[in-house]
Parts: sequence; C-alpha cells; structure tokens
Amino acid sequence: MSNSYQVRYCGVCEHELPHGYFSLSKRSQTVTGGEPGVVLVSHDNVLTDFCGQECADYAEAAISSTLTSAYPTTAKTVPCSLCLRAVDKTAPHVSVGMSQFEDASEPWLVSARVVDARELAVYCRSCAEPRRTSEAFDMSELGVAV
Ligand SMILES: [Zn+2]
Ligand SMILES: [Zn+2]
Repeated sequence: MSNSYQVRYCGVCEHELPHGYFSLSKRSQTVTGGEPGVVLVSHDNVLTDFCGQECADYAEAAISSTLTSAYPTTAKTVPCSLCLRAVDKTAPHVSVGMSQFEDASEPWLVSARVVDARELAVYCRSCAEPRRTSEAFDMSELGVAV
C-alpha cells in the first residue's frame, strides 16, 4: 500500500520518514484582504522532509540563524526576513514554512493531513522572486544551508 511519505528521507539524519513527519516548503503566496486574511498559494515546493521534531528543530534553528528577522507576525506588512525591507503580504511574495504532517492515506488515496504549520520567513521581491510555475529551487538563493 502506498502512502504520502513513501521513499522520502529525512534531510538531517537520512532515515526513512515515519507515519508522522515534517516538511519545509517554499511557497509563492498572496494574503487576501479581510480578517483573518485568506492565503492564496500559487506555487508550493517542498524543500526538505524531516523524520521528527528533533530533526525539524535542528533544521529550523540552522535556517533561522541565517535570517535577519525570523518568524514573521500575522500583520499584513512585515519586514523581509533577510533585508528587512517591508513586504506587503497582500501582494505575491515568497514564504518559507515548516509543516507537520500525519499520513492519512487510504488504499484508494494517498494523502496527508497538516497537524501544525508555522511560517519561518517571508522574503521581499528582491530577495526571492515569487513564482507561478514549477521550477527547480536553489537553496543558495535564500542563504539557507540545511
Ligand atoms: Zn531525522
Ligand atoms: Zn529582502
């Protein structure tokens, strides 16, 4: 039986992913008006998977240490995590976040549900260009070394 985490390995310890796992992903997104805003994701790219909290925390610490301003608030305008320029979240922008998943695959459907998610960074257009189409992602462009 296939599942959502088959043949995927932890980016830190290289173990196979268990039933519950974490993924670091880069999104191109836009927050619509209203409270709370609705996040429209135009492009979602999983960068790395992690086998558990410990490995995810390790990677998260490594990433946040490269950022000038980690963990953006839910405000509509927040400082860019690298250069501190104002990022208007109601315009397309790039966000990097850690999500915790639990496999919810059925024999007829491969799926996973999000248990928890948090945003680690947002980037202005000069630090990371939002994308609408699928493209290979270069980690070096964010100054991230996982
Ligand atoms: Zn691991
Ligand atoms: Zn920037």
